[in-house]
Amino acid sequence: QEYRAINLSAGPSAIPLEVLKTAQNEFLNYKNSGMSVIELSHRSKLFESILSNTEADLRRILDIPANYKVLFMQSGGTGEFAATHLNLMASKLVEDKQKALGTDKKAKCAYIISGVWSKKAHTECLRMGGNAHTIVDGKSHFKADGYYDLPAAAEWDIPNPEETAYVYYCDNETIGGFEMELDTVVPHIDPSIPIICDMSSNILSRKFDVSKFGVIYAGAQKNIGPSGLTIVIVREDLLIRNDSSNGLHIPSVLDYKYFADEGPMPHTPTTFSIYICHLVLQYITKNGGITTLENNRNEKAKLLYNLFDSNPEFYTNPIQNNFRSKMNVVFTLKKQGLDAELISQALENNIVEIKGHRSVGGFRASIYNAVTLDQVRFFVDFLNKFADSHI
Ligand code: PMP
Repeated sequence: QEYRAINLSAGPSAIPLEVLKTAQNEFLNYKNSGMSVIELSHRSKLFESILSNTEADLRRILDIPANYKVLFMQSGGTGEFAATHLNLMASKLVEDKQKALGTDKKAKCAYIISGVWSKKAHTECLRMGGNAHTIVDGKSHFKADGYYDLPAAAEWDIPNPEETAYVYYCDNETIGGFEMELDTVVPHIDPSIPIICDMSSNILSRKFDVSKFGVIYAGAQKNIGPSGLTIVIVREDLLIRNDSSNGLHIPSVLDYKYFADEGPMPHTPTTFSIYICHLVLQYITKNGGITTLENNRNEKAKLLYNLFDSNPEFYTNPIQNNFRSKMNVVFTLKKQGLDAELISQALENNIVEIKGHRSVGGFRASIYNAVTLDQVRFFVDFLNKFADSHI
């Protein structure tokens, strides 16, 4: 039996063992090509088939409508903060709105800020000269020291559709452990406004209706595969541009239209990452698809939150119940001075990467798809024993 850590890293993160073994077995001689997959030309038939299967599997698993393009980019989430803004501003839809507004009024780029990553996206919009507007900011609204809650939508400052270029939000804030329920945002936004959604850390964890969104993006390195690949799902009408394109020149590597028009590979893609994602998607399909993933996610998250709720004198999760992330479970210890001991005892039990993000401290267990139910049970059992012996 292989030595495998219980890896609760926020990303790059665990990948199913079966996938790793397949990759290992075919590494030196991929499908009788006489070379490994990372040596294959991206224009070879073998790689083209990996890429087209990856797209087809993703479309089937997420039920992506035909009027959406799937792009395989290398931007990372950080690149997408810029790419989403630049591409939307260059779209005919927004350009026409801007024309109607006239020259002295700038279309608003409207952000829901529920954590560090949506805040960063808002900041990036400002850096690029966008008219960034805050619909709501959970931290400043509650004058809190972090993002723990959001006020009801009735209290949000949602601008009129005619003056709004897009609405942006992050479905799951990886650092804060703050996740939106399905109806938190979409039903409150006028359907004529394109919604941009960062699903980097919870894509493939539950069913959702792709057709409600303008752009969905996700870095692969959390719930899909290795780092390097960023998946973008974009509604085709947002790729239509007026001739002038607002005078904006989008660098080709961030330009959705360039990717969509030049075929799936306008430049060398991150072949190894795509290959592993291909294996992960096959693995998901074989094991019951999105329904199984969603059930597992619910069961795993429940185990941890039940533990915290039944030990309130020992463990604390600061997030309002309806926003508790089912992917990144954050917690702190009530007693001072025990943090280092929890980490070292976890290590002795083969449990790694439970330290909270350096910006917020505390603990964080990322229980992405590849973390098994048994591993979460083992971790919960460990936390129970730790509490019992330190109470
Ligand atoms: N969005 C979310 C929700 C993230 O968790 C991260 C990274 N952890 C990013 C964006 C930034 O992604 P990257 O590191 O790929 O630039």
